[in-house]
Amino acid sequence: MHDLVIRGGMVVTAALLQADIAIEDGKIVAIGSQLPSGAEEIDARGLHVFPGLIDVHLHFNEPGRTEWEGAATGSRALAAGGGTLFFDMPLNSTPCTVNAAAFELKRAALAEASITDFALWGGLIPGSIPEMAELAHLGVVGFKAFLCDSGLPEFPRSDDYTLLEGMREAAHLGLPVAVHAESQEITQGLAREVAAQDLGAVRAFLTSRPVIAELEAIQRAALLAREAGAKLHIVHVSSGRGVVLAAEARARGADVSIETCPHYLFFTEEDVDRLGAAAKCAPPLRNSSEQDALWAQVSAGVVDIVASDHSPAPPDMKTGGFSRAWGGIAGVQSMFAVLLERGHHCRQLPLDRISSLIAGEPARRFRIPSKGRIAIGTDADLTLVDLSRVAHLRAEDLKQRYALSPYLGYSFRGAIERTIRRGETLCAAREITARSRGKLVKPSVV
Ligand SMILES: [Zn+2]
Repeated sequence: MHDLVIRGGMVVTAALLQADIAIEDGKIVAIGSQLPSGAEEIDARGLHVFPGLIDVHLHFNEPGRTEWEGAATGSRALAAGGGTLFFDMPLNSTPCTVNAAAFELKRAALAEASITDFALWGGLIPGSIPEMAELAHLGVVGFKAFLCDSGLPEFPRSDDYTLLEGMREAAHLGLPVAVHAESQEITQGLAREVAAQDLGAVRAFLTSRPVIAELEAIQRAALLAREAGAKLHIVHVSSGRGVVLAAEARARGADVSIETCPHYLFFTEEDVDRLGAAAKCAPPLRNSSEQDALWAQVSAGVVDIVASDHSPAPPDMKTGGFSRAWGGIAGVQSMFAVLLERGHHCRQLPLDRISSLIAGEPARRFRIPSKGRIAIGTDADLTLVDLSRVAHLRAEDLKQRYALSPYLGYSFRGAIERTIRRGETLCAAREITARSRGKLVKPSVV
């Protein structure tokens, strides 16, 4: 007898297929009709079955800044939003993940607290190149670098020398380098200029971080990556023009993957005036024509991955003036819902395209063949979605540490009904039911 059989759901693969899914020891062992019964049975008729969402970019800030979020609360929010695996960024935790000792501290903390599976990004900062081989050996998915100030003095930005040599080392190790692409010179210069004007805090911030600052940094990172022979992952591309530029670099032979975030697809800069610090992030939200261009690139299949860049802070760091407020949007629980509402329902984005953006490409790009798709032999990481039910996001629904989210009060067509990680239901009917902890996931050896 199978451990678990999920009955009659519409399975989201290249072709939509109504089928039963049988699970044993946390893995999918059969997909078909009228499979024999399981010890546990889940009725999925009327629901769509997606591969579990993989969030390749977020900040749970553990260890060291769990008062900002923490993996216990963060992973519950991820699971409630349909997620089964996250990649934690190397900064905002203390210490930053830039050497083996810091990796081990974070691994132990996440293994203790997280209900979803997890993977770790390593950091690339000036002076950290000699640590990269050991981090690769421990299982990081790649190395994250900033081209502008990160906001944290302990994670300085990479100068061009660090970036080039770090990319050469990453290429040697077979791992991607992820970049936060904004020009330090342009953003810093404009910030000085607008400080002398009377624009108001919101306009001053938006004006200091224009699209051209993103374009310049994407262009430079792509050039260096191609020279180094490195895989480049451009995180949180905020503009349609940024995607076009990255795609041009790809056409010229650079190995580039392009990520955007739900907030760039949902909000525009007008929302920053209304929502204030809850909608402050870098790169900032853009105008509606830039957002339309970004959606066009998502629909055309040029954007590879959508990730939350969930980066929360305590409420007192989000109040007391926009200019001093922490930049970061807490959206881990709403990412799938944004793609269903604004992508599938508003723009007819095909369901298998959504599945690719949140599971298929994350697993393929970062070499995790056991996850990201629904196939015999893969991990039973599955998300059951009711496409027609409308979900309203209320503060009491948020599982994250603080009920701060720019998505509060919005309605989404498409509700996450159940999240299953390796055969175990983590969340059902908006309640967390997880019994066990998640595991560290490493890239497969090439
Ligand atoms: Zn981030």
